[in-house]
Amino acid sequence: MTPFVAGSLTEEELRELCTTAYGRFSHQAVVPLVQLDHQHWLLELFHGPTLAFKDVALQLLGQLFERFLSRRDDHLTIVGATSGDTGSAAIDAVAGREKIDIFMLHPDGRVSDVQRRQMTTVRAPNVYNIAIDGSFDDAQALVKRMFNDADFSRRFNLSAVNSINWARLMAQIVYYFYAAVRLGAPERPVAFSVPTGNFGDVFAGYVAAKMGLPVAKLIVATNVNDILHRALSDGDYSQGQVVPTATPSMDIQVSSNFERLLFDAGGRNGQALADQMRGFEASKAMRLTNAQRDGAAALFSSARVDADGMTMAMRWAYDGAGQIIDPHTAIGLAAAQEAGVDASIPVVTLATAHPAKFRDAVERATGTRPPVPARVGDLFAREESYVKLPGTFEAVTAYVAERATPRA
Ligand SMILES: *Cc1c(COP(=O)(O)O)cnc(C)c1O
Repeated sequence: MTPFVAGSLTEEELRELCTTAYGRFSHQAVVPLVQLDHQHWLLELFHGPTLAFKDVALQLLGQLFERFLSRRDDHLTIVGATSGDTGSAAIDAVAGREKIDIFMLHPDGRVSDVQRRQMTTVRAPNVYNIAIDGSFDDAQALVKRMFNDADFSRRFNLSAVNSINWARLMAQIVYYFYAAVRLGAPERPVAFSVPTGNFGDVFAGYVAAKMGLPVAKLIVATNVNDILHRALSDGDYSQGQVVPTATPSMDIQVSSNFERLLFDAGGRNGQALADQMRGFEASKAMRLTNAQRDGAAALFSSARVDADGMTMAMRWAYDGAGQIIDPHTAIGLAAAQEAGVDASIPVVTLATAHPAKFRDAVERATGTRPPVPARVGDLFAREESYVKLPGTFEAVTAYVAERATPRA
């Protein structure tokens, strides 16, 4: 990460922030590699405090916010929408920090019980949980509108923690290098399979490749909400209805980070891309250009994995390799197995969530109910605190304005 923070942080300062951020992970290796068979590996990214890979980036982001806010006398209001994992990871990363308030919107009744409790049982005076009557897309649209309201945004110094935040991408690049080097890079190329929603995690892999890491292939694994698979395999980027699945963190139709790939792979023409995206917003559909398709095809492949494919991958990992994996990881593993990567190349599936976070789905597939790790504590005994609000701009902004700290 040093090249990206040069001029803002010394190497020693960066090291100190990382030591604090990753000191809270429960595994000595932080992100251990686990071998499944002669070709397949898991990179376990879920040993952080909230059991999903989002902690890898957000624990560091919390440290970065604190460091830079202490340099000037400023106050931040973080506003975000979550389908589950970003919310808990962001709240954990900033709970109790004096110069930050966090307002997190989640779709009422549409996150798992573990996900909701990880957000609503955090008792800190700067944490506000809001259950919105609506879907994740509705919550996300409300947040976007708050940021687009220039007065509101300036008055409360709004900040985003969603997956387009560059510091998050930066922290995610690191584990691609870590895994590849352990498996023989730079002499030996390595492929990665990534369970994908907002395209943030896999875009970090693309940046790693651009930085010189020998990445043989990036496999974009989607569930039945397959807009990215259609775009990469056929050039068809058209938005469908979101279908709820056992992998809620991937139930996304429009991936904010995908635009970054289209820009870079398609020749870095900002004006042309802006026009193309405006067309997409108007008609909810577009074709990728030939340059975008060819540019992406050099590194990416994709797969759509349905509920049966997911279940089979969970069973294979359990029966064949003794590993209980979460549904998101299973989508990635299924895609890895069908990608036809040359047998000489190791394939690393990113294990994005701890199986205990999605216990019901894991139990349905494997017959085994994974225990919640001790480090999340008495999650089910603690009292919850959140408000339910109608999904209207007026209701949500009134709630935030009453509680957030305005800029000095
Ligand atoms: C967020 C998330 C994903 C998707 O990651 P993106 O960066 O949005 O593509 C996959 N799996 C889990 C468990 C997640 O929390």
